[in-house]
Amino acid sequence: MDTITNALQAVRQRIKQAAEAAGRKPDSVQLLAVSKTFGADTVREVHAAGQQAFGENYLQEALDKQALLRDLPLQWHFIGPIQSNKTRPIAQHFDWVHSVEREKIAQRLNEARDVHVPPLNVLVQVNVSGEASKSGVNPAEALTLARQIAALPRLRLRGLMAIPAPTDDVAEQRAAFQQLKTLFDQGRSQGLEWDTLSMGMSHDLEAAIAEGATMVRVGTAIFGARH
Ligand SMILES: *Cc1c(COP(=O)(O)O)cnc(C)c1O
Repeated sequence: MDTITNALQAVRQRIKQAAEAAGRKPDSVQLLAVSKTFGADTVREVHAAGQQAFGENYLQEALDKQALLRDLPLQWHFIGPIQSNKTRPIAQHFDWVHSVEREKIAQRLNEARDVHVPPLNVLVQVNVSGEASKSGVNPAEALTLARQIAALPRLRLRGLMAIPAPTDDVAEQRAAFQQLKTLFDQGRSQGLEWDTLSMGMSHDLEAAIAEGATMVRVGTAIFGARH
């Protein structure tokens, strides 16, 4: 087997073991392969090894790649920062957006989403404590933004996403993920019908799964170091 197929299987194995350790079913955690900086041929290879969902951070890079991969039934997730002048192509060329942090952006995505395709799946990005990048809505405002999104007909609110500050301390990793999970449960108890908690990357997916992640976003552990 080639390296990338082995790497994909190793990640699937890590997900399965983490789920079982947490008393969860392995298929309750989806894998999003984060392909930023890697070319269409590499995505094709990972797809051939059984992966359908891919995440991209940079719009133009993603559109170029998608154009070369039209023959494949891939699911595309936009996970990077969103500039308001890029909402139209994002709404047109992706199935999911993980990084909505303002109502204005949500409204623009809603207006741009074609009425002939299913609604755009949307996650609210939350700035959980200690986040270095400062992206995402304040936790105290996350459920308000979520309710605004739930009211937009061309968007389908699916849940929450976060990128906690990287740390090797597993207790710290778990504390940040638990904060997001608590918010997620709160939203549910207030009537939000969402099902997706996007948290955990190459270095901390075990902690995220232990705290309830339903989708992990993994780049390096599948594709290798980014160039
Ligand atoms: C790059 C990126 C990832 C993947 O990170 P790895 O550490 O390479 O697994 C996940 N989520 C987001 C939002 C990213 O930008």
